[in-house]
Amino acid sequence: MALREIRIYPDEVLRQETKPVEDFSKDLHTLLDDMAETMYEANGVGLAAPQVGELLRLTVIDVSDEGDTILEFINPVITKKDGKVPSEEGCLSIPGYRDTISRAGIVTVEAVNRHGEPFVTEADGLLAICLQHEIDHLDGVLFIDHLSRLKRDAFKKKWRKQMLEHA
Ligand code: ZN
Repeated sequence: MALREIRIYPDEVLRQETKPVEDFSKDLHTLLDDMAETMYEANGVGLAAPQVGELLRLTVIDVSDEGDTILEFINPVITKKDGKVPSEEGCLSIPGYRDTISRAGIVTVEAVNRHGEPFVTEADGLLAICLQHEIDHLDGVLFIDHLSRLKRDAFKKKWRKQMLEHA
């Protein structure tokens, strides 16, 4: 296993289109293992392939207390959404910034596992939030895109300042 470089906003790769996974061979398993290791190393609860520069539709998630239950969603599709909850989120690609947006409270997701076998997950709580956040990444969408225009402009100003300070 190897750590992958996490791409940081405004890296263009975070906005690009991703392709469905069609090859379920060893290369895919290596990528999934690397992504899990990278996510744990960064203390994240989810990581989507574009965040490590891979334009594929897959994500790894671990919302367990112990950090020992890796979930892999390949070619995931949200087939049902219910309710509305406030969600305070951050993103490994936008380090140091958190804000509250609105998400569905319950989601149903259809996906396949690393062997290409289909499964269905119905989730609420943190897993539901995480699935929406990560599947957004596969469509080039970041959580800051869900902020009001006012808040988003404030974020951009703050981010620019932070980037300049660390340049
Ligand atoms: Zn993210």
